[in-house]
Amino acid sequence: MPGRSIRTYTVLPSIPERLKPLNTLAYNLWWCWNADAVALFRRVNPDLFEMLDHSPIRLLAATSQDRLVELEGDDGFLAHMDRVAAALDHYLKAPTWFREAHGATDGDLKIAYFSAEFGIHESVPVYSGGLGVLAGDHLKSASDLGLPLVGVSLMYREGYFRQYLNVDGWQQERYPENDFFTLPLIPQLDAAGNPVLVSVPLPGRELKLKIWHIQVGRVPLYLLDANIPENRPEDRAITAQLYGGDHHTRIQQEIILGIGGIRALRAVGVVPTVVHMNEGHAAFAALERVRVAMEEHKLDFAAAAEFVKAGTCFTTHTPVPAGNDAFPVVMIDEYLGGYMAAMGVDRAGLLALGRQHPTNDGEPFGMTVLALKLANTSNGVSKLHGSVSRKMWHEIWPGLPADEVPISSITNGVHTQSWLSPEVGQLYDRYLAVQWEAKPTDYAVWKRVEHIPDAELWRTHERGRERLVAFARQRLKAQLKRRGSPPSEVDAADEVLDPDALTIGFARRFATYKRGDLIFRNIERIVKLVNDKDRPVQFIFSGKAHPKDQGGKELIARVVQMARRSELRRRVVFLEDYDMNVARYLVQGVDVWLNNPRRPLEASGTSGMKVPVNGGLNLSILDGWWVEGYDGDNGWAIGAGEEYTDLAYQDEVESRSLYDQIEQDVVPLFYTRGADGLPRGWIRRMKRSIMTCVPVFNTNRMVEEYAERCYLPSHRRYAKLGANHLTAAKALAGWRKRVGGDWGQVRVEGVEAPAGATHRVGGAFPVTVRVQLGSFHPDDVEVQLCYGVLGALGEITEPRAMALLPEGSFSKNGSGAGLVTYAGKVPCSASGQFGFGVRVLPKHADLPHLFEPGLVTWG
Ligand SMILES: *Cc1c(COP(=O)(O)O)cnc(C)c1O
Repeated sequence: MPGRSIRTYTVLPSIPERLKPLNTLAYNLWWCWNADAVALFRRVNPDLFEMLDHSPIRLLAATSQDRLVELEGDDGFLAHMDRVAAALDHYLKAPTWFREAHGATDGDLKIAYFSAEFGIHESVPVYSGGLGVLAGDHLKSASDLGLPLVGVSLMYREGYFRQYLNVDGWQQERYPENDFFTLPLIPQLDAAGNPVLVSVPLPGRELKLKIWHIQVGRVPLYLLDANIPENRPEDRAITAQLYGGDHHTRIQQEIILGIGGIRALRAVGVVPTVVHMNEGHAAFAALERVRVAMEEHKLDFAAAAEFVKAGTCFTTHTPVPAGNDAFPVVMIDEYLGGYMAAMGVDRAGLLALGRQHPTNDGEPFGMTVLALKLANTSNGVSKLHGSVSRKMWHEIWPGLPADEVPISSITNGVHTQSWLSPEVGQLYDRYLAVQWEAKPTDYAVWKRVEHIPDAELWRTHERGRERLVAFARQRLKAQLKRRGSPPSEVDAADEVLDPDALTIGFARRFATYKRGDLIFRNIERIVKLVNDKDRPVQFIFSGKAHPKDQGGKELIARVVQMARRSELRRRVVFLEDYDMNVARYLVQGVDVWLNNPRRPLEASGTSGMKVPVNGGLNLSILDGWWVEGYDGDNGWAIGAGEEYTDLAYQDEVESRSLYDQIEQDVVPLFYTRGADGLPRGWIRRMKRSIMTCVPVFNTNRMVEEYAERCYLPSHRRYAKLGANHLTAAKALAGWRKRVGGDWGQVRVEGVEAPAGATHRVGGAFPVTVRVQLGSFHPDDVEVQLCYGVLGALGEITEPRAMALLPEGSFSKNGSGAGLVTYAGKVPCSASGQFGFGVRVLPKHADLPHLFEPGLVTWG
């Protein structure tokens, strides 16, 4: 009601003293991955809890004073509450992996993890999909492991949209406002009790930001909010929607996230030594840290950039172009021109940071490029995605072969306890080693799944499927009612799906490359599958399309129209408004999780990882994580990892393979029952799925890898460059400048190896190389011999590199050495046709690896 003067006020429940622990629990998201805590809140009022997105705060606010008084006198409830409160207390104080493994040597590590979205729980709707859920799971595991990490993001007043469908199955979007008072948000206040504000520059004005804080176990998540009276009305809307608005909204949000995020951390007294940018959205954080370093330490841009880069890690998440933000140059001029000029960076220098080809005027400013250039470790999210990313971005390092582009991979995971069904959790309590929750990465623990009696595992799994079917029917009824369907149709929803039938789930973002409608390519075959009298198959779909993705919306409409056909209606359903709650029901209830993206566009995919922990099986294209996860016996692969250029042909081949798999392998295995009614072969596969996938594809393993391969090495380099008034950072900047200018002097003048070239296995042959180093000292370079088996095209496949050593002695003063001879011996460890080449790379002890500068001279 604009124009009218409304005074707002908030009424909070008055929680009796004895029940105060409920409040403490409600404000630490730890509760959401602890089954006993969830059960406690459910006990307050199960129906309300269901209705209110499982939000403890809204539950407590909606619970009548009578009920609270009743609970206060309920000994069973109080004992339950005290037990959960003690468990949280214990969790917060217990020794952790980080403290034990690294606390003594790297106790001053401080990581800030920046992400545009965080999916922690459905009651905190500031996520859209996989990226956010991954970020949420990252926080939860960082908390479990005791990693000194904080999260940074935006607080979206409306979050991501809620989906409903019109009569034609066309996606409609709704943006209900988040009520901040019933979210687990704590405002960040100064000593006088006033909100801490920071600001970021926008064209012609400063935007003010308020800081909120959510506690996730041990880890705080800070959220920035532009919706405060200090800002113009239109500016207050900048943080309204996640991935909403246009290009301008996007760059403004990214300025808030990156620049505002660093400022907010300083304002709350957190000074990270390592910043992890989860996707390019956060890349401006690196620029702001450079600005701060310049100001604080009186550095030039180059030296400050070396320093910041040492403490910056980056993860890229998708090869799909729409997922890699790039802004037209005019927008960079508009939004960052003044900011960068104040730092003394000229326009060309700024644009070069966001371009693969710095002098290409037609190239927009890429956030992924900026992040890659300002991070000292970069990675993709599965082995395959790492290799795809190296090819995709290799032009940033033009001299390097794609294999050696410095983008590694750390495969995603999921937070095991967040996705595990309570019933299956109880089975694990009974049959795995004690404290299995503390060791999600231990193969030996998960191997004990073999001890679970088949009948018990199967019955527990069937209960999950029954719950899913009941949930789906109830959602379906609500959907139909809202759409105004006739009562007969609404009632018929009680008859859809069969709690005993083989249930296949497909739920994820509806992006066209994920091909949500592939299973409908051959109507005859799908109709036959689902209507088999003795061995029926049923499908449950769910997922949102980005509001601007017409192709994605068409896919949803097609699935919905399919689900309405009379031959399919009872066995195919689409559940509206996919969120973490729907995801949980699905991954805990399906027999099979289907994924059929166009390889290699699914960088990792994580929904499939949530299924094995509950005993489900994956049926997927060999893309993303499944290339690593599939072992021939723990699920099924569609195809053999082929890639296609003819997309229609690909759909034809892969849909056929999909039907064949379901008809010939999946259905028979599921419906082959012993005299006791158990599908023994299926159960064996379930156990293999648990044993092989769960210990690997979890975020505890993932976060440990980030800690050991990215955070700790970065932290140490950052400390080294920052010591003694940043002497090493300045020296490194000077060195890089010199290498950039003079590298052309370096040449390989001659290579000598014995003629004839036949050698015996076990032997070795000498090689000497003359290298013109010009003004460089031997300490500045590495001369390498690359050797390996020759491929059919005369190229060296999987080359191995060996450093050659300079002959003679050189002064330590670092002056140019001119012509230097290098020598080494090439080992012959296997027979075959081999080849070798020689190359020279610049080398510096403070760089993470030789390939980082992207310079190489081949002989
Ligand atoms: C796990 C999850 C995803 C991720 O799905 P993928 O496409 O498999 O990566 C998306 N949305 C929600 C709600 C999830 O829980």
